Amino acid sequence: MSKNVLITGGSRGIGYGIAKALAEAGCNLAINGVRPEESVLDELKELRKFGKQVVYCRGDVSSESDRNLMVKEALHHFGELHVLVNNAGVAPNERVDLLEMKPVSYDRVMDINLRGPFFLTQKIANLMIASKQKDAAFEGCIVNISSVSASTASIMRGEYCISKAGMGMMTKLFAVRLGAYDLPVFEVRPGIIETDMTAAVLEKYQKDVEEGLTLQPRLGKPEDVGRAVRALVENKIPYATGQVILIDGGMSIPTL
Ligand code: NAP
Repeated sequence: MSKNVLITGGSRGIGYGIAKALAEAGCNLAINGVRPEESVLDELKELRKFGKQVVYCRGDVSSESDRNLMVKEALHHFGELHVLVNNAGVAPNERVDLLEMKPVSYDRVMDINLRGPFFLTQKIANLMIASKQKDAAFEGCIVNISSVSASTASIMRGEYCISKAGMGMMTKLFAVRLGAYDLPVFEVRPGIIETDMTAAVLEKYQKDVEEGLTLQPRLGKPEDVGRAVRALVENKIPYATGQVILIDGGMSIPTL
């Protein structure tokens, strides 16, 4: 498989897990993140060991000019993009009760987790349509990394839950709009995955898992999500556009 893939937030955590899985599968990678390239040289080197092209496209997904630059950079190297993985995301800087949450936190989380990915997807969807119209054999797809928070209410980080629920509808909307072009769009919903995002609350989550929060008795790892995304990108789950794939160890199944 030689697809060109843009992964937002691809140099650490879940995004890096996805990058490794796709590099192993033979994809060329455009890795996006906000840190300067010098900070991610080791990760880029690791990814290049798989033998495909790996470029870094620094930019803030919430900024229109940065989105334009990162896409321009990716196209400069690869000519066209087959896959967009909307992975970059942030938790609120502080966990604050819904009744006290500030507009500045709401706006930050929504801009990075939903508004930015929406307009990035819009831009790349138009490019994918053009590629498909030029070559009917073009195989593209879009994968959105949301969260179990799309359907699980956490009143101490409501803005995050709203952003992820919005990503669920964004997935359906693009799946509908791109269906006629046979460009599938998926939502992957991780549960609790061990990354920098969960580092501060890891002990609590570990205890929750010991007490039965997940059916499979462990926290998730970035490679769990990576393997799922690889299956989607390799078209191993065909004829399923718009679907939600839960990678959560079974934590979303209500039990009595
Ligand atoms: P993480 O370890 O904190 O990494 C976040 C990544 O997003 C980093 O690569 C970061 O770039 C990038 N990023 C942050 N703000 C950005 C911006 N404005 N523009 C571009 N890139 C930006 O987080 P993670 O746990 O891997 O989470 C990845 C995704 O999975 C997020 O969407 C998150 O909501 C979702 N998720 C996580 C969990 C979990 O338990 N960890 C569960 C469900 C869903 P830099 O490296 O340059 O800082």
